[in-house]
Amino acid sequence: MFEDSIDRDPQSVACIFCAITRGDVETDYLYEDDEIVAFRDINPQAPFHVLVVPRRHFPSVDAMVQDARDIEILGRLALVAVLVAREQKLADSGYRVVTNHGPHGAQSVAHTHFHVLGGHQLGVRLG
Ligand code: 5GP
Ligand code: ZN
Repeated sequence: MFEDSIDRDPQSVACIFCAITRGDVETDYLYEDDEIVAFRDINPQAPFHVLVVPRRHFPSVDAMVQDARDIEILGRLALVAVLVAREQKLADSGYRVVTNHGPHGAQSVAHTHFHVLGGHQLGVRLG
């Protein structure tokens, strides 16, 4: 699961989210720019469940706090999460933005992604 957790390459050959952001896997993007794409989760946990993903391969958010350019992408991921939620008219009903890091965070794909969930009443408990 985390065998490429020290991978700092811009893209990782074995990574499914690198393949998706490269366009190797047929995927409808809800948002796309030079750095970031958003697409629906394959196993949605809510009526609206989208992943906001940098095109560049970072193992998780924990690997994005050293370099000012990486921190800027981190901030833009949060911005795009809000924009896709607003685009879906979720601002009034509410939504959740979450990212997981490492085993205790239950991260299963070792490429940074923010989940955006909404469209029904989410559970109160996060952990
Ligand atoms: P994590 O557990 O790492 O925070 O979240 C990984 C998410 O990626 C899961 O919600 C999982 O359903 C989703 N996922 C895994 N593989 C794919 C895929 O090939 N395509 C899409 N769209 N989502 C995926
Ligand atoms: Zn990747």
